[in-house]
Amino acid sequence: MNCLWCDAAMIPELSWKTVYWLSEPKNLCPSCREQLTIIQGRRCNKCSRLSDDEFCSDCRWWKLHALQEDPLICNHSVFAYNERMQDMISKWKYRGDYCLGKAFARDYYNAFNHNLSFMASGTIAVPIPLSKERMAERGFNQAKMLADFLPLKSEEKLTRTHHEKQSKKTRRERVTSSNPFHVTAAINAPVLLVDDIYTTGTTLRHAAYVLKKHGCPAVYALTLIRG
Ligand SMILES: [Zn+2]
Ligand SMILES: [Zn+2]
Repeated sequence: MNCLWCDAAMIPELSWKTVYWLSEPKNLCPSCREQLTIIQGRRCNKCSRLSDDEFCSDCRWWKLHALQEDPLICNHSVFAYNERMQDMISKWKYRGDYCLGKAFARDYYNAFNHNLSFMASGTIAVPIPLSKERMAERGFNQAKMLADFLPLKSEEKLTRTHHEKQSKKTRRERVTSSNPFHVTAAINAPVLLVDDIYTTGTTLRHAAYVLKKHGCPAVYALTLIRG
């Protein structure tokens, strides 16, 4: 098979390792794999940002100033957002290379097993949806693809309203439409939200907020990248 990024042929070594190779298919060649940075070391318990403290300065600030309880219990991210990751994401998401997403399957799955396997088997993986308009443009939802890599039942419980550029709206419209998510049915199981990137955490919190409002007891998140 060939590397999903550079297309180099990958020939399994003929040794006892072959068995291992066959059991764990690799979609990136070793040198492309090396270009990606798995987040390691101490991190913020809330948002996965590298931090020597239990909670990073951002999360501490939020805790002090938030007007309501944080609907998101915590986010775990797998990779750092380096240059190679930026290139891969743009090819995968914006230039329609669906198959490239498979390069992340193993690490995403492993991150769930190592960090979130305490979640009950009744937990539902819910991908952050695209609006109808974005979906028509892109052809697939990258978050749905990630959700399908997990050993959980995956359900599209959310829909998303397409927002025009904020600048075109009046202030009142901006305020009333600030949460773009809607829940399709009441939900009484814990949810693991799935998305490709955590940047400010606003998107995930908007989604978590509507889920909790419709009965969801607990919301966690597993994102591919910590921006
Ligand atoms: Zn490669
Ligand atoms: Zn944090």
